[in-house]
Amino acid sequence: MFINYKCNSCENIDIRYIWKEDDGTYTEEVLTKSATKAQLEAMDDSDDPRDYDVYKTIVYKTENPPEKVKCLKCKKVAIRVVVDAPSAFVKGSTHTKKKQIEQRIMNGMGKAEAEKFYADSITNSKERMKSGGDAHYKKVDPNMEVFRKAGLAKKNTDKETAHKKEFLQAANAKMIKNKDTK
Ligand SMILES: [Zn+2]
Repeated sequence: MFINYKCNSCENIDIRYIWKEDDGTYTEEVLTKSATKAQLEAMDDSDDPRDYDVYKTIVYKTENPPEKVKCLKCKKVAIRVVVDAPSAFVKGSTHTKKKQIEQRIMNGMGKAEAEKFYADSITNSKERMKSGGDAHYKKVDPNMEVFRKAGLAKKNTDKETAHKKEFLQAANAKMIKNKDTK
């Protein structure tokens, strides 16, 4: 499932893909290493920079999706943003939609789709390398219109936005308080 996490330190928000294993634990794969600039420069066009990607499997031994993960950007604690997940995924036939996305990730894509994805990935990967290693964690602004059209997200009403703000402020206040009293 896709879960939003917000970093306490750098305020980076990531949508992470974390799935439940048969044994009940939650698992995630995080990119830890990619081709270096030197390796990239040595590649020719037929090389795929993704061959140099190294993923680390993280197992969360929690009953529910983990409340805390390591921020991808600054490695500090990122907290699950509970309020955002339902409104982004609950509307309409989201269960099926979610399943479709999950299945696509697990089982792969159609040939045409895969080829396009492959070509895009190579281009993007090379682009990322040009700006240095940390560019993997570059902030991405999702095109919400696309999400909305796919039924994956809905625009919040003013009231919902106000409620979420309130919730996040309260949650943040609580966390800061907990930290201080430790
Ligand atoms: Zn962070």
